[in-house]
Amino acid sequence: MSLPVPRPDLAALEGYHSPQLSVDVRLNTNESPFPPPEAFVDAWLAELRRAPLHRYPDRQATALRAGLAAHLGQPVERVFAANGSNEVLQTLLLTYGGAGRSALVFEPTYALHAHICRITGTRVVSGERTSDFRISPTEAGMLVAAERPAVVFVCSPNNPTGTVEARNTLEALLASVIDHGPGLLVVDEAYGEFADRSALELVADEVPLVVSRTYSKVWSLAALRLGFCVAPAAVVAELEKVVLPYHLSVATQAAGVAALAFRDEMEGRVQALVAERHRLAEALGRLPGLTVFPSGANFVLVRPDGDGHALWERLVERGVLVRDFSRWPRLQDCLRITVGTPEENDRCIAAIRESLQTLESR
Ligand code: PMP
Repeated sequence: MSLPVPRPDLAALEGYHSPQLSVDVRLNTNESPFPPPEAFVDAWLAELRRAPLHRYPDRQATALRAGLAAHLGQPVERVFAANGSNEVLQTLLLTYGGAGRSALVFEPTYALHAHICRITGTRVVSGERTSDFRISPTEAGMLVAAERPAVVFVCSPNNPTGTVEARNTLEALLASVIDHGPGLLVVDEAYGEFADRSALELVADEVPLVVSRTYSKVWSLAALRLGFCVAPAAVVAELEKVVLPYHLSVATQAAGVAALAFRDEMEGRVQALVAERHRLAEALGRLPGLTVFPSGANFVLVRPDGDGHALWERLVERGVLVRDFSRWPRLQDCLRITVGTPEENDRCIAAIRESLQTLESR
């Protein structure tokens, strides 16, 4: 018996791997350390109890999109929702990428952008960030002119570096995309609420700009898988044609609507995490032999003077799991630490302090 082989262009593909180890302090996947409010869970389950489960869900996700539109101050026609912002990105690439088209990413950045490109048969063009992990508008403009990508991805705040892109850079990139188009600038703002600026207000019906966001981080709902984007109405109409019908379950839609009534609680959690991010970054910044990069997200990237992977192992031994980027191109020795509860952050700081003392410098 022989099994069929996958598409040859998928042969070099590696799956997503971030170990799900069982440790006390899990600071490796940028989730919220706080569960959503109990009152949200009650409201959601009450709504679910009323739902006709023998019927398919609302294909237009009317209530959810209307709620998001009101929350964001945007017309409902500009809102598209999907199972996590990963499905938003996949739908964008299925619609605008594909054979004979390319997408531009700026490394180091969120690996799923390039991964979904490959799955959708979209050629990946890799731009480089500067040594402080910013996008150079001049170099980016040259790449857009030379490659004329169908999609340009900018992750801001950038995962895993935390870098928030300057407004000027985004405007310059958008201008390049318009000049050398037709292309689409996709700003991935999965961590947007943790930063002090957003590209949301640049979205308009005649502008080739999409901003994607998620319920996974600030809304404390990673388990539910819900994300959305704000895009020109004509782009949303195209995405709706491509995404599978009934892709958003009634449970997911109801959760998305119910969560929006707890906006104040969400903003309170965001403020608490931003304050903890400052505290964590300052405490780590005082440790000799450790560089801490500036972050506008719910995580910080650090680089020890010594072997980053050895540091990661020592942290696991102390019950603290962070994300190991030490062997990634352009991120040598780097570890990414998700901001947790104050207690988790204290444990992480103590574990790093102890581990660094036994780490040899390179
Ligand atoms: N974009 C970025 C930059 C991310 O870091 C993540 C989550 N790790 C996502 C998108 C996907 O988030 P989700 O599918 O949970 O909405």
